[in-house]
Amino acid sequence: MVPCAHCGSQILFGGARLFDMRFCNSGCRGRFLAAKEALNAQTSTTDQAHLSYRAALDQLRKAPEDPALRQRALEAGRSYAALVRDGSATTVFDEVAVSNDIEIACATAATARSGRAPRGSPASDREV
Ligand SMILES: [Zn+2]
Repeated sequence: MVPCAHCGSQILFGGARLFDMRFCNSGCRGRFLAAKEALNAQTSTTDQAHLSYRAALDQLRKAPEDPALRQRALEAGRSYAALVRDGSATTVFDEVAVSNDIEIACATAATARSGRAPRGSPASDREV
């Protein structure tokens, strides 16, 4: 006896196969494939949101004083966080994480222009 890869029912004989997996019947195999496809679609949506967020941060890094880019990065970050949390509301932790990403993007841009370490970095702490 082997368990069905979808529902876990014990299969005495027969059933459907997919590679090395066994299923009760073709219905279970179909539901398994549909669930896997839905999971892949959800993952790619999350990947897409992550890429949009990274792109928004990259744009902000190039023009850290642009409030529109800052707003776009914030919205992209919140969208990404909501997807990661299965569409539920973002948490304070997410807000802080997005805010930190935005601060780092702006600080990195400032450092690249002036050649100095950003405020609060270990290098500037030593000067005090
Ligand atoms: Zn089954």
